[in-house]
Amino acid sequence: MTAPQAVRRVAVWADGDVRAVDPDEPVVTAFDQGLGRGDGVFESVLVTGGRTPRLEAHLARLHRSAQLTALTHPGDDAVRALVAAVVAGWPADVEGACRVFLTRGLGDGSPPTLLALLAAVPAETVRQRSTGIAVVTLSLGVPADFRATAPWLLGGAKTLSYAVNMAAQRHAHAAGADDVVFTSLEGRLLEGPTSTVVWAAGGRLHTPPPGTGILAGTTQARLFAHAEGDGWPTAVTPGTVEDLTAADAVWLLSGIRGAAPVTRLDGVPRGDAGLTQRVQELLTR
Ligand code: PLP
Repeated sequence: MTAPQAVRRVAVWADGDVRAVDPDEPVVTAFDQGLGRGDGVFESVLVTGGRTPRLEAHLARLHRSAQLTALTHPGDDAVRALVAAVVAGWPADVEGACRVFLTRGLGDGSPPTLLALLAAVPAETVRQRSTGIAVVTLSLGVPADFRATAPWLLGGAKTLSYAVNMAAQRHAHAAGADDVVFTSLEGRLLEGPTSTVVWAAGGRLHTPPPGTGILAGTTQARLFAHAEGDGWPTAVTPGTVEDLTAADAVWLLSGIRGAAPVTRLDGVPRGDAGLTQRVQELLTR
């Protein structure tokens, strides 16, 4: 059972100070541009053993997202202090998902809104990590090379505008699946709505190129670094759904869920050639 102190936490940054607040306390004005327009960026950071061992990679990506969206960033130390405040006293035996939100605040040059939430990782997420996921492929309707030439589409930024991503997951659920792999207009692999696609084929691990406008995954980067160190070569490969069908194994990767093996792709059962254990072990390093 989740300990009562591990249910929900909130901390806010304001005027250079960080404070933990009651999770039911109002912390954002209704006029916040993050609320009205999804005009902001975020990160989801795993809390494990009461700590955030992967925080630095998320800080780096939050910076990149803030740059791409021309948001004022209060600095890494502010984010570190905020995360420390929300994580303090979190029980070591409860995995948590810490979300850091940075929004444009009221806009017009006013200070940004920066806050962090923490809640236990849902049981369904843990289930998907261990028993796998059924996935459907859905087109995002954008040419694979287009977002690299269209900065207004914010390719590579982890923005708060996830309504399309959530709608795609609802579409998958209605079709009896757990999750989605987006494809480009011409059928190239992109990413999941909240995850990076990785597949094993020809003795290598593969993932699609970030130049397609997908988010550069911190979990995929960590997996590839450890795999290379372990003698398992990796490649950035512009794949298609046929590559996933023919692969030895396919995973959706993210910081909170880890590596979820794909057990069914567009309705067709598929295996993992016993490779999931190795991938998950590499991710514990
Ligand atoms: N792609 C998208 C769209 C995501 O939302 C996420 C999750 O944060 C990822 C990829 C995986 O990123 P990470 O491994 O850093 O959690």
